[in-house]
Amino acid sequence: MVNYKELGLVNTKEMFAKALKGGYAVPAFNFNNLEQLQAIVTAAATEKSPVILQVSKGARNYANGTILRYLGMAAVEYAKELGWEKPQIVLHLDHGDSFELCKDCIDNGFSSVMIDGSHLPYEENVALTKKVVDYAHQYGVTVEGELGVLAGVEDEVSADHHTYTNPEEVIDFATRTGCDSLAISIGTSHGAYKFTPEQCTRNAEGKLVPPPLAFDVLEGVMQKFEKQGGFPIVLHGSSSVPEEYVEMCNTYGGKLPNAIGIPESELTKASKSAVCKINIDSDSRLAFTGAVRKHFAEHPDHFDPRQYCGDARKEMVKMYTHKIVNVLGSKGKAE
Ligand SMILES: [Zn+2]
Repeated sequence: MVNYKELGLVNTKEMFAKALKGGYAVPAFNFNNLEQLQAIVTAAATEKSPVILQVSKGARNYANGTILRYLGMAAVEYAKELGWEKPQIVLHLDHGDSFELCKDCIDNGFSSVMIDGSHLPYEENVALTKKVVDYAHQYGVTVEGELGVLAGVEDEVSADHHTYTNPEEVIDFATRTGCDSLAISIGTSHGAYKFTPEQCTRNAEGKLVPPPLAFDVLEGVMQKFEKQGGFPIVLHGSSSVPEEYVEMCNTYGGKLPNAIGIPESELTKASKSAVCKINIDSDSRLAFTGAVRKHFAEHPDHFDPRQYCGDARKEMVKMYTHKIVNVLGSKGKAE
């Protein structure tokens, strides 16, 4: 058993309390390789932003759970090396689908886990989430639950349409499970194809404009928690799918027609509310792939991974920094 405190990591408790009060959101970036991790830590350490390193079940399968755990540890030490004296870094399991998986992560140094019972009948979701919370809290590990179903595909998680969170259920769920934060469904979705062209309208330039998020549902959820001084809300599937990177991919041989994400203005608006954690995965994939495609097109003779992965890393630092500084408002919140 390795407790996260031994690794220099923190849980989300204080981090979210500050974000809730301060009107900003903490970025939760998924990672499954070295370059992503280096880029996330570089951006967070430079901007002194609290940050959540997320590992999905698919990432564990790809990179190996043990390796990822040590990369999480390495993140803290690397952050210090970069001059961030007190790194505020969470190592979080994204979309845990069983008690056993959550327990395994808790026993191996994770400081936060998500148990996603959103696809289960309500009472089963409550029971499973409570079971994970009861175990996690013994070790100071924080737990994210989910109510409502998000559309889209993310690793093993997929659904073909979303069901908005029912604000009538949130107090009962949070109280009975004891969870520390709650992921809700207000129209964000997983992946780089969040909306079909049919769901969108077109602006004057003919570009696709996605339907707005259901801020009324978020408002309804926040009202329910008002009496207790608010509650940390989480948004999944919140990549913006930057046009710049989709174009970079497509210009250099990629084929990503009609990839579309959540406009950054909507994420900024959400950050100022009770939304304390915003999940971003696809944007990192797109930045990485775009940079690698460009590199190969411009240097067909290159075959050293440091050359093209180095370019990818640079592009990702730019993207993560942009999210921290210009979108979520978390810059300087972990001095
Ligand atoms: Zn998710």
